[in-house]
Amino acid sequence: QQTNGASHTLSSVVRKKLQGYVGFANLPNQVHRKSVKKGFQFTAMVVGESGLGKSTLVNTLFNTQLYPPKEDVELTHETSQTVEIKSITSDIEENGVKLRLTVVDTPGFGDFVNNEESWKPILDNIESRYDTYLEQENRVNRRRTMDNRIHACIYFITPTGHALKQMDIEFMRRLHTRVNLIPVIAKADTLTEEEVAAFKERILADINYHNIQIYQAPAYEYDDQETIDENREIMSKIPFAVVGSDKEFDVEGGRRVRGRQYPWGVIEVDNEEHCDFVKLRQMLIRTHMEELKEYTNDVLYENYRTEKLSAMGIQQDPSVFKEVNPVQKMEEERTAHEQKLAKMEAEMRAVFQAKVQEKETKLKQSEEELTLLPSPLPSDTTTCASGPTGQLSSSSFNPRGIHLN
Ligand code: GDP
Repeated sequence: QQTNGASHTLSSVVRKKLQGYVGFANLPNQVHRKSVKKGFQFTAMVVGESGLGKSTLVNTLFNTQLYPPKEDVELTHETSQTVEIKSITSDIEENGVKLRLTVVDTPGFGDFVNNEESWKPILDNIESRYDTYLEQENRVNRRRTMDNRIHACIYFITPTGHALKQMDIEFMRRLHTRVNLIPVIAKADTLTEEEVAAFKERILADINYHNIQIYQAPAYEYDDQETIDENREIMSKIPFAVVGSDKEFDVEGGRRVRGRQYPWGVIEVDNEEHCDFVKLRQMLIRTHMEELKEYTNDVLYENYRTEKLSAMGIQQDPSVFKEVNPVQKMEEERTAHEQKLAKMEAEMRAVFQAKVQEKETKLKQSEEELTLLPSPLPSDTTTCASGPTGQLSSSSFNPRGIHLN
């Protein structure tokens, strides 16, 4: 079966041994150089009640003051009655590698008396970003495609130590098919080690019970054992118990660490014995950033796109590698609609002409009937003018016999 050139080539691939130097082993380096030159781009969303440490954690993650002064955020937030969506974009650089990072914040989430629909503006925002991307893909010129889609959503769980709240479950249930969900236990330093362990278990049980799909790193067959173990280790920490801080302290051993100070000591942000911050950063930035972007594009966005196009009545036959173009589809629909209008107009015109024709025939008939009418009585000659033949002309005919004088 030969549906297109690609499948033809695939079916006839033969493994060949090279007889000497060719040079394509350098391909990964070409890709590397190009991507370093182009730079990288990543968009993360943070969701959770205010005061859970979202901005502190983002600043801690990227080791920079990404967030504007807190007072500004708090001011706008107090006056608002709904969940707002705010984004901050910064260009950061590490060892010559540039990263354009956008953090999307959702002030107001969970802060109202009635938080039932708090998830809705957030879902709308995620979907409208997909719509924008879809629109760009369908443009004639796709050279300047901007990817503003959310690649990861860090969901902050209040450190109650009990279970997920209804609002948490509702949010995750509504959004898990649209975005990579990464749940974290906020301010984990406020719970003991045992409390964190029990809380994690309870959260995972709730997530399982409600069939919520949180982000899972895929395992590839080409991964080496070290990568597989590393991934397993990261995944075993979800939901990450995190601690954020922009303060540094001197601790024993002459070390200076980022952390939070308590009377009994310092909880270190970057110490894996103290919290899961390192693992979260490792997954989000060092090992899985591209993976999160790929999953967003290949699975989450693709599903959204299919749903959207199906809702528009566009079907795609997977056996045929033919792209459905919504713009073309809309054009076809417009032409069909115009043809329908033109047909209706022609029909109306035909009906109108038939009616005019009918009226004209009737008029002609009555005119003919009139010309055939017998002459009026001779006594009434004063009221009627008669022609030279003694016949009445239709113009002077007085059918009701009304006397004019
Ligand atoms: P946001 O409203 O969610 O962005 O919260 P902020 O980042 O502004 O933090 C609110 C308050 O919580 C500030 O006083 C922070 O210093 C504090 N805070 C932030 N992260 C942590 C944390 O991990 N543990 C503790 N105990 N406090 C934190």
